[in-house]
Amino acid sequence: MAEILPGVHLVEGVDPSPEFTTHVYLVKDKGNSWTLIDTGLPGAHAAIFAYLTKIKVEPTAVKHLLLTHLHRDHTGSLKAVTAQTHARTFAHWLEAAFIANDPKYDGPGTPPAEGFSVDERLKDGDAVDAGGGLIAYHTPGHTPGHTSYYQPERKILFSGDLFFVHGDQTVLTPPEFTHHTGTALVSARRMGQLSVDSLLTYHGGPLLRNGSAAIRSVAQSHP
Ligand SMILES: [Zn+2]
Repeated sequence: MAEILPGVHLVEGVDPSPEFTTHVYLVKDKGNSWTLIDTGLPGAHAAIFAYLTKIKVEPTAVKHLLLTHLHRDHTGSLKAVTAQTHARTFAHWLEAAFIANDPKYDGPGTPPAEGFSVDERLKDGDAVDAGGGLIAYHTPGHTPGHTSYYQPERKILFSGDLFFVHGDQTVLTPPEFTHHTGTALVSARRMGQLSVDSLLTYHGGPLLRNGSAAIRSVAQSHP
């Protein structure tokens, strides 16, 4: 089992290749339900459901599905996952429009193949009653409505594609996949003000300890 922290699972089997990791997180709620953060590429739902079977969680126990941003490697299995889980879906209000392909996103990175209308449109600072209690932080730069989710009690930051871990280096996601790197840097500095133990990145990593130090090193390495 890939339970990397108590109640936090790194879903196995969704990576397209060992070089290109896509970290879909399954997080226990305070009750008996579960929260999924991002959904992997199209087709990743098979691995997600296989993992749920393995840890003996019914698909319908996944009640919440939080999205960090629009890119297809995060939203690719959104429709297939919600069809079986009936999970309530959440994204930042700005990103939600691009996830719906209304308008279709024309920045770097691949937009969804098919638009999807999320249930809950978040704004910066919203508390989300999911994953043990999360705060949605609007962290634009990689995409305009990119959002990170922070669990303050346990100091866990689900940082989507704000950061990218490459070996033992934490950096901003490379500019060729990023809408505006300067904006991402400002978002990184803001996340550097949080107290973060576990920095749960989507590509590379995750870092289970000393997340704040890694975040601050990013903020300093991009003058
Ligand atoms: Zn992305």
